[in-house]
Amino acid sequence: MPPTKDYLTVELKKSVQATNSGIPSSAYLHIPFCRRRCYYCDFPVFVVGDRKNGENSGTIVQYVAVLCQEIEETKNLGASLKTVFFGGGTPSLLSVSQLSNILETLDGKFGIAAEAEISIEIDPGTFTLEQLRGYAAAGVNRVSLGVQAFQDELLQVCGRSHSVADIFEAVEIVRSAGIVNFSLDLISGLPHQTLENWEASLKSAVEISPTHLSSYDLIVEQGTAFGRYFEAGAQPLPADETAAGMYRLAREILTGAGYEHYEISNYARSGYQCRHNRVYWENRPYYGLGMGAASYVEGRRLTRPRKTQEYYQWVRSISGLNSPATPQIGGETQQDIYPATEQNFQVSENDILLETLMLGLRLAEGVSLSALTEKFSQPTVDKIWRCLQPYWRQGWVEIMTEDGAMATLGEGAELPLAGNLRLSDPEGFLFSNTILADLFSKLGEDN
Ligand code: SF4
Repeated sequence: MPPTKDYLTVELKKSVQATNSGIPSSAYLHIPFCRRRCYYCDFPVFVVGDRKNGENSGTIVQYVAVLCQEIEETKNLGASLKTVFFGGGTPSLLSVSQLSNILETLDGKFGIAAEAEISIEIDPGTFTLEQLRGYAAAGVNRVSLGVQAFQDELLQVCGRSHSVADIFEAVEIVRSAGIVNFSLDLISGLPHQTLENWEASLKSAVEISPTHLSSYDLIVEQGTAFGRYFEAGAQPLPADETAAGMYRLAREILTGAGYEHYEISNYARSGYQCRHNRVYWENRPYYGLGMGAASYVEGRRLTRPRKTQEYYQWVRSISGLNSPATPQIGGETQQDIYPATEQNFQVSENDILLETLMLGLRLAEGVSLSALTEKFSQPTVDKIWRCLQPYWRQGWVEIMTEDGAMATLGEGAELPLAGNLRLSDPEGFLFSNTILADLFSKLGEDN
């Protein structure tokens, strides 16, 4: 998965993916191997080169064994898994037997529900038809193909390890393997990218007709090759206005082609929204497993070490902690036992509020006013409304009735008790950083 920016990336003190109380029924597994490192990527990945994958890589063999050990050591809180997501990295570097082994270990530990969504991120040029058929036989029913652009020169600028021809070949393989539910990932805001070639990429993606499309805007991260070569907003990166034009164009072309813009950066055919990612946006709990992965379990967020040896050491350190043969730790989880740090902390009520807003407002439907009131009290919701009124007047914030119609509110009116608070599409989404930064600073002032 590419480390990209979208228009809702206000920095929170500690986190991006939040959780809530409740029993997780979703698991994210990080597979940190890539053929090479893309120039914009700051993910925790391990470069294995062009010839290594699956069982012919001792590194991957060892990692899969440790990951399965981590799964075994994780406390089962009682719900079977309804979504499983293999992200990376390039999880399609796993052999069929490695992927099956991980799924069997998960199933043995938590149980995987019969109707579970099991997704895997795959990159063009890293898998065969036989391999995808094997993945499907093991239970995978959704794939997300990292396409990024349909111009070879842009793929090269990004340091991607595949060509445009590889993209079309990959799509053929996905279809031949009988995987109907597949997503294409695109990136806008690349160096040297123009509105014209962005439009061409969107149209090529639409012609392929996937069930789902993700369209992210590049963020130039410090510590990446792009971070060294380029300055945000300066050429050859598109100007901010052009990048905003790309966002509007994506919405126009993709919704025009029948995709529902259900989340700030995501589009789906009816019935094909990503169920796993909705868990994050709805601020629900999930297991995160593997190097650098974050979990949100029992109100605590725990981020695993981002370096291989440190992650292995960490898994060794939790070994046996949740075993019934270790009575002194009783019902505690690894999260309880691992020292409290920036990587392991109980999410405060205030952070839950901010994250509920930050994540929920990514969704087209926004956040439920009744749920917000129930969870955070009427005065808190009133305060949020006071902060958001200028943006509501501007048309960037909308209040929807329970029937999905736009609520008609007079100046100075109270918020309705039911219905939804959401950002308008596309302008509210485009200016979401501004809106949320202002909202959070005002909520912070009052706390
Ligand atoms: S394939 Fe994805 S995870 Fe791997 S280096 Fe490129 S952007 Fe990063």
